[in-house]
Amino acid sequence: MTEGTRTLDVVIVGAGAAGLGFGVTLRHLGIDNFAILDRGDVGASFLRWSRQTRFITPSFTSNQFGLLDLNAVCLGTSPAFSIGTEHPTGAEYAAYLQGVAEHFELPMATGTDVLSISRKARRKPFRVETSRGDLHARFVVWAGGEMQYPRTHGFPGAELCLHYSNVDSWDDLANGERYVIGGAESGVDAAVALAAAGRRAVVFDREEPWNRRGSDPSQLLSPFTRARLDSAVDSGRVTLRGGCVVTGVRRNHSGYQLAFEDGDVIDCAEKPILATGFVGSASHVRSLFDWRDEYFPLLTENDESTVTKGLFLVGPQVRQDDIIFCFIYKFRQRFAVVANQIARRLRVSTEPLEWYRRHGMYLDDLSCCEDACAC
Ligand SMILES: Cc1cc2nc3c(=O)[nH]c(=O)nc-3n(C[C@H](O)[C@H](O)[C@H](O)COP(=O)(O)OP(=O)(O)OC[C@H]3O[C@@H](n4cnc5c(N)ncnc54)[C@H](O)[C@@H]3O)c2cc1C
Repeated sequence: MTEGTRTLDVVIVGAGAAGLGFGVTLRHLGIDNFAILDRGDVGASFLRWSRQTRFITPSFTSNQFGLLDLNAVCLGTSPAFSIGTEHPTGAEYAAYLQGVAEHFELPMATGTDVLSISRKARRKPFRVETSRGDLHARFVVWAGGEMQYPRTHGFPGAELCLHYSNVDSWDDLANGERYVIGGAESGVDAAVALAAAGRRAVVFDREEPWNRRGSDPSQLLSPFTRARLDSAVDSGRVTLRGGCVVTGVRRNHSGYQLAFEDGDVIDCAEKPILATGFVGSASHVRSLFDWRDEYFPLLTENDESTVTKGLFLVGPQVRQDDIIFCFIYKFRQRFAVVANQIARRLRVSTEPLEWYRRHGMYLDDLSCCEDACAC
């Protein structure tokens, strides 16, 4: 990429589920003057998943009856159709995304790390500084995800642990008992994978996420994980310990030592596994957002930065009030909301978005998300 004099309408940062899905939405609107940048390949984060990790949300080719496959990033596609698997691995899902990029002829610039984003004045285009030169764009859509920005702080010594997202294969870890810090989806996935590899795992959590009940799957273990956890616990290889707040990890003569809030300490030979989540990629451009808290940017009702007009966020870091958009089937419904804003400002017809609304891909009325399951 060379120093660009042409100003793009839109730069999308990230070629994962959010960046590609949003790119297809621009295509459907007839907006072609855009680029999707990624430091890795298409689906780079999925390619980094451990070999054993699978989608917890099931894929099914339900599209013909008006129910888009839960893991599809855009209308008219289905990972179940293209991969033939209900719970794809990361590599399988990356292959589906590659198919989307090719089918819709999305303008990809892979191997392009976005280093910074700036703008001289409010009405000027953004300058997107990348490892391969600068680009200029009227709008930037940040779709950098969470996976590549793990949370490796939180208590002293957290950096000594092995973060869940840095494991290529649970089979390759040394034998012996492993302590897992964090008992939500990723911690339980780690424990189940360790048990399947013949190891023992103890999961510590300040609460008992494995016992939570409710209607929002973002707050609970998925049925897929719960079933796997039940059989791992039955096998005797996985132990769950709730009400345990880890306050520090340090090295000692036997390997590592975990300290707990109640004064307890435990020694372990192997690196503890850290499964305490992600800080998220928006932290990479922190000054361009105002923040609700340490992890989630404050956004307008159209998922635009409240301090940098023209910068939008798509993907799992989007939060609106108490609504969490961490799953693909959730955040894909906000692509049309952002695309509607950009199309209007570019004076492009938003007519194609009515098709999105008819297919449950245009969630601008968030009151429907408050419904709880009756039974
Ligand atoms: C282990 C695991 C299991 C999950 N299981 C499910 C599931 O079953 N169902 C579900 O719906 N969701 C699941 N999720 C969540 C889902 O994977 C994420 O929400 C989804 O990947 C987010 O898509 P994204 O495009 O925002 O981010 P990513 O897929 O992470 O894509 C972001 C892209 O941005 C690129 N990038 C980041 N920063 C830069 C930069 N500065 N410059 C250039 N490129 C950059 C990265 O290389 C990456 O390709 C899971 C997540 C994890 C980690």
